[in-house]
Amino acid sequence: MNYISTRGAGAGERHTFSDILLGGLAKDGGLYLPSEYPQVSAAELARWRGLSYAELAFEVLSKFCDDIPAEDLRALTHKTYRAEVYANVRPDPQHGHTAAERAAQITPLHSLGVENGAPLSLLELSNGPTLAFKDMAMQLLGNLFEYTLAKTGQHLNILGATSGDTGSAAEYAMRGKAGVRVFMLSPRGKMSAFQTAQMYSLQDANIFNVAVEGVFDDAQDIVKAVSNDHAFKARHAIGTVNSINWARVVAQVVYYFRGYFAAIEGQPVGSVPEGASAEQRAAVAATTPLADWPKVSFTVPSGNFGNVCAGHIARMMGLPIHRLVVATNENDVLDEFFRTGVYRVRKAAETYHTTSPSMDISKASNFERFVFDLLGREPARVRQLFHDVETQGGFDLAKSGDFARVAQFGFVSGRSTHEGRVETIRDVYRRYQTMIDTHTADGLAVAREYLEPGVPMVVLETAQPIKFGETIREALEREADRPAAFEGLEALPQRFDVLPADAGSVKAYVASHTGA
Ligand SMILES: *Cc1c(COP(=O)(O)O)cnc(C)c1O
Repeated sequence: MNYISTRGAGAGERHTFSDILLGGLAKDGGLYLPSEYPQVSAAELARWRGLSYAELAFEVLSKFCDDIPAEDLRALTHKTYRAEVYANVRPDPQHGHTAAERAAQITPLHSLGVENGAPLSLLELSNGPTLAFKDMAMQLLGNLFEYTLAKTGQHLNILGATSGDTGSAAEYAMRGKAGVRVFMLSPRGKMSAFQTAQMYSLQDANIFNVAVEGVFDDAQDIVKAVSNDHAFKARHAIGTVNSINWARVVAQVVYYFRGYFAAIEGQPVGSVPEGASAEQRAAVAATTPLADWPKVSFTVPSGNFGNVCAGHIARMMGLPIHRLVVATNENDVLDEFFRTGVYRVRKAAETYHTTSPSMDISKASNFERFVFDLLGREPARVRQLFHDVETQGGFDLAKSGDFARVAQFGFVSGRSTHEGRVETIRDVYRRYQTMIDTHTADGLAVAREYLEPGVPMVVLETAQPIKFGETIREALEREADRPAAFEGLEALPQRFDVLPADAGSVKAYVASHTGA
């Protein structure tokens, strides 16, 4: 498997999965993608249906990381996707599954009911250590980093800025990992008590919480300034784990397969005779063309387009996905594009602070990957368009006719607002006795616009309600459910250092803790 940049520089070079694992952007500012998408066959899908999450992850990742020996990769997926790591399951008495059974599934499917003839369900991606879907990829990244660094004898100092979910997912993935330190900047006093406690209560020696005297943008600017000091970056082996990291995207591809299989569970594939055995059914499925497999739609609460980009890749591999529904909140950069063909990044003053804050983005950093495919993989045009983003704030693909092809990729979109998500949280609680978080509520509100009879709709659950408890109180007039492992979290001792919002202080801090 060879990886190329969406902007085409170094087209003659070869990059393996391990080459791009620790890096971020390609040298030309583009994003990495495989030179072509590996394909799945009906025989593979028929076999994969019955696999555990860890085995399925091994099969999917094998197609993308062919430079890691198979037994090593298998050990990594089994170490990552264990029931003990994804144990924050909520009870599901309606469906008679025990907590242990649900944890063993890693990403259990929680079916709600049938609406407009479409079976509607939630794919639970937030049962990991930080209660948000970012754990799904970040936990693998932690193990991949440790494995790769040990092989080469290198070490890595991860520098990041967070307003909540990403930073804690990174810290929980990297805690105690040999060869890795994490320096995570957060705006002092600006995160929720729960999010603050989640990060600052970590006592691991390789985790450094830095509370910056400023807002999130100040913290992010500091990370950019430090990263632009190439000499400092090289001397201190500074790396990042942001959402454009290819390994994070590819790890997320796995749960689209898992969600697909769960959504069609029990459904025959192909023409199966009455009373056929499980083996006979599998044999028929294995020879049924992918076009004749049942179709499933997914709705994805979206910000930086990382999660839904993984869905796009699963679909390009041949997984029978009908629609990929992109759901945004009031920060509707992506919804605007999928409705009109205009991609227009927002200025700071136009970026709203909402009650689904992990989707509050001004531009979608992974979007370039989809644009590359939409334009038939012409790097010169991608380079021009993202140059236009820098100079003119965006581009319009309706004029050139490229936008007309979006439908072939299955994409549609919608947006939600604060009132919409509060109403959806209330409705889902009353109708299905299920408590959902604000981001998932944006997803469900938009999913309801795209239900089609007979096509299962899977909404990705991206966080648990306890992370956004204030809005739960507003919607339901009660406290959000708190997984047992998080009782008393806010009372634990916290460990962090406070620094002024300037790059010099952060550099001095990093230098004093890396000893280089
Ligand atoms: C990060 C995040 C999102 C957005 O995901 P993208 O991959 O950036 O599109 C949605 N919901 C939650 C809870 C998140 O943490």
